[in-house]
Amino acid sequence: MKTGIHPNYHEVTVVCACGSTFKTRSTYKSDLLHLEICSRCHPFFTGKQRLVDSAGRVELFRRKYAGFKKPAAPAPKAKTS
Ligand SMILES: [Zn+2]
Repeated sequence: MKTGIHPNYHEVTVVCACGSTFKTRSTYKSDLLHLEICSRCHPFFTGKQRLVDSAGRVELFRRKYAGFKKPAAPAPKAKTS
C-alpha cells in the first residue's frame, strides 16, 4: 500500500440520540460519532409510525405558518374520471 495517501480507517463508537450505541469502522475524523437517528429507532426499521423531529422543525413550521389563511375554495381537481 502506498503511504501517505490513505485515510485513517479505524474503529469508531456510534452514539445515537435514542441511546443506542454500536461500534463500526470508518475513516471519520473522531473516535465518537453522534447520530440523530439509527436503525434501532428509525420508523422504517421499527415499523411504527413516529414523528422524527429531533431538531424541532415541525414546531418551527407551525409557528411560521400559524397565521397563514387557507384559500376560500379548494383547488379544482384535475380530471375526474
Ligand atoms: Zn437511534
